[in-house]
Amino acid sequence: MTALCPVCQQPMSWVSGHFHCDTCASDYQQRALCPDCGKPLQELKACGAVDYICQHGHGMISKKRVQFSYLPL
Ligand SMILES: [Zn+2]
Ligand SMILES: [Zn+2]
Repeated sequence: MTALCPVCQQPMSWVSGHFHCDTCASDYQQRALCPDCGKPLQELKACGAVDYICQHGHGMISKKRVQFSYLPL
């Protein structure tokens, strides 16, 4: 999965727990959003995998459907 910078659309690199855009010299935090309601998803980490749960009635969201947004740190 390639994360693109929300500002300049360049690929970002993963640096110690967050994404870093070299072009903007900015750090971004990845956030998982429900594709149906756009609300943040709860992340459940189990056995090295991550499940995404919508707490607004949409249940478990397949990783393929999760929408990611990037918030400035
Ligand atoms: Zn950038
Ligand atoms: Zn939802």
